Amino acid sequence: MDLTFLGAAGAVTGSCYLFRAGGQNVLLEFGQIQGSRRDEQANLDPLPLPVKDIDVVVLSHAHIDHSGRLPLLVKQGYRGPIYTHHATRALCEIMLRDSAYIHEKDTEWENKRRQRKGLRPIEPLYTRDDAERAVEQFVGIGYGERCEICPNASIRLQDAGHILGAAIVELWLSENGVERKVVFSGDLGYRAAPIMEDPTPVEHADLVLMESTYGDRLHRSFDDTLVELGEVFADAQRYKGNVLIPAFAVGRTQDLLYLLDEHFDEWNLSGWRVFLDSPMAIQANEVYAQFRHLYGAKVFRERSDRPQLSNFAATRTSEESMALNRIESGAIIIAGSGMCTGGRILHHLKHNLWRSQCHVVIVGYQPHGTLGRRLVDGVEYVRLWQHTIKVNATVHTIGGLSAHADQQGLLDWYGAFADRPPVCLVHGEPKAQRALATELENRYTADVSLPRLGETRQL
Ligand SMILES: [Zn+2]
Ligand SMILES: [Zn+2]
Repeated sequence: MDLTFLGAAGAVTGSCYLFRAGGQNVLLEFGQIQGSRRDEQANLDPLPLPVKDIDVVVLSHAHIDHSGRLPLLVKQGYRGPIYTHHATRALCEIMLRDSAYIHEKDTEWENKRRQRKGLRPIEPLYTRDDAERAVEQFVGIGYGERCEICPNASIRLQDAGHILGAAIVELWLSENGVERKVVFSGDLGYRAAPIMEDPTPVEHADLVLMESTYGDRLHRSFDDTLVELGEVFADAQRYKGNVLIPAFAVGRTQDLLYLLDEHFDEWNLSGWRVFLDSPMAIQANEVYAQFRHLYGAKVFRERSDRPQLSNFAATRTSEESMALNRIESGAIIIAGSGMCTGGRILHHLKHNLWRSQCHVVIVGYQPHGTLGRRLVDGVEYVRLWQHTIKVNATVHTIGGLSAHADQQGLLDWYGAFADRPPVCLVHGEPKAQRALATELENRYTADVSLPRLGETRQL
């Protein structure tokens, strides 16, 4: 029995792990690598085994860095099941279709450029048809149900508290009468986050694969974060600017909408108009409402099926989105992509970044190589569609709204394992991983390793 780290090893995106046990090949996640154009080339790297040899796939949650290459797998001939939570299946229907559409559009644009240079056209990573076929192969299960996924392997999903449907995956593998239990954290939620449950503690494992996105950081307390957000709106109101919030369509956007609803009076939001400028987020809201029985007890489960903002508008069409460019003040615009790597937020950045009275509120993790990261790092100029734009807007980073556990949250989750199993840190940048490894070793004398990409470990 062994495990090969095929992605998110020393990096955050591109999650992918291959388990071999008793002649079965179990692929856990096939996420997209996100970052600079050069980083993203690696999405085309072949797997170390023929796709037809994969017996079964398991997916922890819908985010593209975990699910984003599943349509490619199907395009390459995978016909087996993809086990995941019911809500993840519903979200992936939206997210993978959107991801495919972006690949199609990017390729169309790239091919025009190539044509002018006399180069051969290239294919998109996958198309909407591939995405639809992939979702048909999804098998939805609930939290807490142990389920045999192939001979010698079974799984049980537990609520990871990260986004709707997100799961910790307990995976049992057996070979020649020996059983091993691996627990993959998936992405663990932040306990203070408004909608989701807390991450489920797990007591036993022979090996833990744990995310480490914020392994070197403590989030600001949630109450301080709320004060900080309130101040941003007060400030923006004083200077008559707009507030742009690049946000992931799934998870962060719903958290934000609930917070705006809950703090409507306190933050004096009646003078603002709130726009959700993301067709995908609008659809994701529907899925959230449909699965609201999964919400944590701490919030709204019974109160209403969605936020009740009186000044809220969802802009579906591109005409409605473009009309927002004419608004000079008083708009809170939530738009994707969350890392400013594409999507409608780029248009809003173009129209607002150069204006000193505007505010950009970064509420999610920004990997290296993304425009979001450059804004966080304080760049003076950005390039958008061949235009150079001076960054005069104020950029705020609100860390406490994260959908990810911070160092303390990660340590607490590991601390629930009674037998202190060995732990491999994944889904994190090296600096965060080293800091978390030191804490795990000091507090729990845990056996911690930082697997490299392509490394295989015996189970
Ligand atoms: Zn995630
Ligand atoms: Zn992730």
